[in-house]
Amino acid sequence: MWCPSCGELEDRVVDSRASADGRVIRRRRECVACGERSTTFERLEMAPVVVRKRDGSSVAFDADKIVTGVLSAAKHRPVTEEQGVEIAEAVEEAIRSGAIDASTEHIGASVLKALRDIDEVTYLRFASVYKAFDDPSDFEREALELAIERQAAGEPVAVHGGADGATSGGSEIDLDAAPIQDATDQATPTPS
Ligand SMILES: [Zn+2]
Repeated sequence: MWCPSCGELEDRVVDSRASADGRVIRRRRECVACGERSTTFERLEMAPVVVRKRDGSSVAFDADKIVTGVLSAAKHRPVTEEQGVEIAEAVEEAIRSGAIDASTEHIGASVLKALRDIDEVTYLRFASVYKAFDDPSDFEREALELAIERQAAGEPVAVHGGADGATSGGSEIDLDAAPIQDATDQATPTPS
C-alpha cells in the first residue's frame, strides 16, 4: 500500500481487526521505509447504492466521501476516523434496508443526526455546509474551507456547554427547536 508520507509501496500490517458485524476489516499499516502509519478498510463489494441528487441526477453512494466530509468537519475535534466510517456504514445500511430514502437530503440528515450525538462542534460545522450539500464531495470541500476560515480568524472552535448562559450565540441552528427535516426544507434555495 502506497505510503502517504514518502510514497514507498512496501508496508507491513501491524494490526488487523474486524468490525463487530464482521463486514469490515480494518488494518493498521506501517511503512517499511519511514514508519508512517495508515489505515485501510477492507469490505465486501456489493451492488452500488444509487443516490438521487437534488437536481434529479444520480450518483453512486460513496462511503469514503462521507468519511472525508465528516473528518473535515471534525478537524481538531475528538471525532475519530473510525466514527466517521461507522456513520457512513450506518447510512449505507439504512439505505439498503429501506430505512431512509436514497437521496442526498436524507443522507445529509442522517449524518447530522449521528454527529449530534458525537460532537456538537462537528455537528454545527457539518450543518452549516449541509445547506449547500448536493454531492457528497461538496461536504468535503466546504467543510474544509470552513475549518480553514475559522482557523484564519483565530476563532476558537469550542463548545460553550451552556456555561456562558445564552445558547453560545451565533450558532446557525437552534439544536432544540428546528427538526433537521424542516431546516433542510427551508435551506433549499433552488437558485434560478
Ligand atoms: Zn513511508
